[in-house]
Amino acid sequence: MRTIFFILLFLAMVPVKAQLLLVPDQVFDGEILHSNWVVLVTENRITFAGPIASLKNSRSYEKKELKGMTLMPGIIEGHSHLLLHPYNETEWNDQVLKESPVERAIRGVVHAKKSLMAGITTMRDLGAEGAGYTDVYLKKTIEDGIIPGPRLLVAGPAIVATGAYGPKGFHDGVTVPLGAEPVSGKAEAIREVRTQLGNGANFIKIYADYRWGKDEPSQPTFLQEEIDAMVATATSAGRYAIAHASTPEGMRRAILGGVETIEHGDGGTMEIFKMMKEKGVGLCPTLAAGDAIERYKGWKKGMEPDTDRISKKKKSFKLALESEVDIVFGGDVGVYSHGENYREMELMAEYGMQPLKVLQSATSVNARIFHLDELGRIQKNFLADLIAVEGNPITDIKKMRKVTFVMKDGVVYED
Ligand SMILES: [Zn+2]
Repeated sequence: MRTIFFILLFLAMVPVKAQLLLVPDQVFDGEILHSNWVVLVTENRITFAGPIASLKNSRSYEKKELKGMTLMPGIIEGHSHLLLHPYNETEWNDQVLKESPVERAIRGVVHAKKSLMAGITTMRDLGAEGAGYTDVYLKKTIEDGIIPGPRLLVAGPAIVATGAYGPKGFHDGVTVPLGAEPVSGKAEAIREVRTQLGNGANFIKIYADYRWGKDEPSQPTFLQEEIDAMVATATSAGRYAIAHASTPEGMRRAILGGVETIEHGDGGTMEIFKMMKEKGVGLCPTLAAGDAIERYKGWKKGMEPDTDRISKKKKSFKLALESEVDIVFGGDVGVYSHGENYREMELMAEYGMQPLKVLQSATSVNARIFHLDELGRIQKNFLADLIAVEGNPITDIKKMRKVTFVMKDGVVYED
């Protein structure tokens, strides 16, 4: 009797690990689509993914049917600004100048939740745009479980060349907050990289080109030696740098300097894209930002011919696809509404990318490029970041508009 009592007591003390078996119609594992697969989640990890017949598990689990649905890895948004909201609500200048960091943080909390509910379980946030290190604090509060939101990789304030960034339009006697930290020369650049890394930036964002005056075309900003110094400082600290660049020369300097991704890349040529491919630099095309900005200016998509900006972007994106450079899914969300991340996927497909490739980009490709070794795939031992959509997004990318199930780190947020 005593022995039985102690055995029972022992069994009661062994924690029973919560297990959930997900049974969808099909599974997109980050690479390809499988029919008749099931996925077992134990606590916060995937412990089985494959045909149900191969599931050897004596322990009990809770079963969840996802009828008519495709289960896939949580989406990894590659270019977001949680601290910005659509420019047709408030222009960028006014957000930076008139909205306090507190207001922007409160908005950011709402944006983080919307993103997660839209199936974005990881986000690379590319600059607080004048809100200091608010992105670092949003990340902390999400990790501490205070607010719901995606896993964040954050840039902090980002770095621009002195005089190159906005808000602009004031006489030289007026000091205004800037959208990023300005530096000139190697010494200042190195100091700022170290400051931002020390304050919690996961990587460094530099602006390799920008428009120097209103309505002017972009021109390179940093000298090669400044870019080289910033990238070397970041990499020697075990982190990395990425660059905003849209001119061929800005892109070339950033690539030669050793950045890991180029953001926008509107003016990319075949030579530049091939150079990126050769050096393993990813291209984040941010198609949805350009599309949104043209609409804000009055362009009626579908009823009017493509604007100059849109037709140029379509051409350069086509070149990028031909060059086989890695395409990073990232739409510059924040320029348009948070939670509408699917807009970038639809445009990638519309501009010529196979929907399967689009979904790979948004999962396994982004995970590889962002050094996320345990995310972006449905595979044994990977973290349980999983979403489901109705139907098959590989035959209809618009299915990504409605995410019906969201799990992050084994916790169900939407069902
Ligand atoms: Zn951006």
